[in-house]
Amino acid sequence: MTIAARRPTKVVRVGKVLIGGENPVVVQSMTDTDTADVAATVAQASALAEAGSELVRITVNHEAAAKAVPEIARRLGGVPLVGDFHFIGHRLLRGFPECAKALAKFRINPGNVGRGARRDENFRAFIEIARDLGKPVRIGVNAGSLDPEVLARKMDANARRKDPLSAEEVENEALVESAIESAEAAQALGLPADRIVLSCKVSRLPQMVAVYRTLSRKTDLPLHLGLTEAGMGIKGEVATAAALSILLAEGIGDTIRASLTPEVKGDRTREVRLCEELLQALGLRSFRPSVTSCPGCGRTTSTLFRELAERIQAHLERSRAEWKARYPGAETLKVAVMGCVVNGPGESRAADIGISLPGSGEEPKAPVYVDGKRRALLEGEDIAEAFMALVEEYVRGRWGPK
Ligand code: SF4
Repeated sequence: MTIAARRPTKVVRVGKVLIGGENPVVVQSMTDTDTADVAATVAQASALAEAGSELVRITVNHEAAAKAVPEIARRLGGVPLVGDFHFIGHRLLRGFPECAKALAKFRINPGNVGRGARRDENFRAFIEIARDLGKPVRIGVNAGSLDPEVLARKMDANARRKDPLSAEEVENEALVESAIESAEAAQALGLPADRIVLSCKVSRLPQMVAVYRTLSRKTDLPLHLGLTEAGMGIKGEVATAAALSILLAEGIGDTIRASLTPEVKGDRTREVRLCEELLQALGLRSFRPSVTSCPGCGRTTSTLFRELAERIQAHLERSRAEWKARYPGAETLKVAVMGCVVNGPGESRAADIGISLPGSGEEPKAPVYVDGKRRALLEGEDIAEAFMALVEEYVRGRWGPK
């Protein structure tokens, strides 16, 4: 499969982060704390940023939340914060100018700013604040809160068609139209095109793909991708990865978020890890050394193989931060940990460094391959430690100071 070149878009600056153009696809996430609770929000936003989230979105839904934003931003230092506004965003931004200044980007949902003339007025107030402060805005349309006026207009037009579209097709058109019309309205109010990011989120994979394909043909504004309300556990992760992969492989998408529902006491940073792993699997970005390991089978009946694979993986993860600082480029390292001679030597040779562990019935020796050539034969109790030492040596030699 070939990954298509990214479609050309405008570039939007959000704090220190650039979205669109040829810049790497940006990973973002969102807190689920009460924003008025400064300590909890700072703790979660820090965890998300440390996990790799390059933008962190927070809900700004009432006055206490808006009041808390400057202190949250101050405690977080340079983490670019995106304020998520619905219904009264214009009032909060106007009433709490320090909140508006502290945020790196605003998100507005055109379906949630009022109806009729009031909608236009609220939208204008919101956009004018962004314009005057030089802030970028994501215009984020969502199927769950689609502007009913746009939908009704599209439904009426569809009823007059000779071959009417399905309800879903009409909804797709309405989502795209709402996003495009809102972006045009924002530009007419003076917000430059290079300060607008668009999204059209739906919760069903085929619909999301269809909507973004259409949207990407109609605009050169950067697109924020996300399968909204993806759900919990493996279902949410698979659906998100599948939806985002299809679009990213077609060159569509400039920033992504995985909208997973964490389990009770679950780790919110999992959504960041999913985005990183997805971009890395597609070959679009490198965040950490990648490990190719076989699933094991009847040839690895002992737990030795799993234990070794796990220890090596954990060691690579532990070393990541240090390597990032000391050995730039080491995040592209490819390691193979294989269970026996069937595919072990082949995969190990294809990696930068790989080990082929002994399967059951095989001689208890593990050949190590470096850059495609057999380099060592490990045996005994400390195969994992010896292999990790060889990995360290490889990283130092390849990416260390010359
Ligand atoms: S490499 Fe060997 S142990 Fe691993 S899955 Fe293949 S046959 Fe099984």
